[in-house]
Amino acid sequence: MKQRTTAIALTIAGSDSSGGAGIQADIKTFSALGVYGASAITALTAQNTRGVDDVMAVPPEFVLAQMRSVASDLKVGAIKIGMLATAPIIEAVADGLDDFPGVPVVLDPVMVATSGDRLLDEDAVEALRDRLMPRAHLITPNLREGAVLLGEPAESREQMLEGRAERLRDLGAKAVLLTGGESMAETALDIFADENGVQRIEAPRVETENTHGTGCTLSSAIAAELAKGESLDKAVKIAKLYVTAAIIAADEIAVGQGRGPVHH
Ligand code: PLP
Repeated sequence: MKQRTTAIALTIAGSDSSGGAGIQADIKTFSALGVYGASAITALTAQNTRGVDDVMAVPPEFVLAQMRSVASDLKVGAIKIGMLATAPIIEAVADGLDDFPGVPVVLDPVMVATSGDRLLDEDAVEALRDRLMPRAHLITPNLREGAVLLGEPAESREQMLEGRAERLRDLGAKAVLLTGGESMAETALDIFADENGVQRIEAPRVETENTHGTGCTLSSAIAAELAKGESLDKAVKIAKLYVTAAIIAADEIAVGQGRGPVHH
């Protein structure tokens, strides 16, 4: 049988036992977009649609071992980074990226779950900013994460967001997608800033409580499109359409009793 080559994406992120966010959301997204998914798991979470009950971080050297095993065998076309849990894991991931020269990195600076549970130690923000942001082709902070990275108060006024996205880019990433979906604006507005300037990326607001895994899905959809060879600008627009469809589809399935997952 004739084998065909396939685009491959790697997710470096945490596991969600309820299957809606983290590594599980990433691999579902890769598959739905026709991309083969590999993973390096940074932390296990015991969680469901109501919240995170417990977190067990993977030893940093074992995160690095997973990355090196993948790098030495699979031809990875793009990397998505999600939950990192601790500063030593960030250091290990930064070291591991040296084994993927030239591979585009989409960094979702995951800090706190929507349920309020922490997914990154408070003292790890500096390592994230200094060690990983300069290596990222794109970072995808939400409003709260953007504020923490800049050390500024949270801000959701639309006219302030463009300046914020540009200031985040000054921290070293090549491009920024500042997601404003959780603000109360009439549309789900994201601001994309790259070397060509700032663009507004809008989608209709979907009224649903079932948005668990939205951020993970967005960043992994972008990585999937990059792995297929799309430009960053186009990958971001395709991913926004994909996430919007996944949020609309979330109400088709009943999973758990809390904030249900987006559907792929
Ligand atoms: N669990 C893991 C492992 C995650 O990576 C994330 C987000 O990135 C979450 C939970 C939080 O997802 P949400 O805020 O959509 O509930």
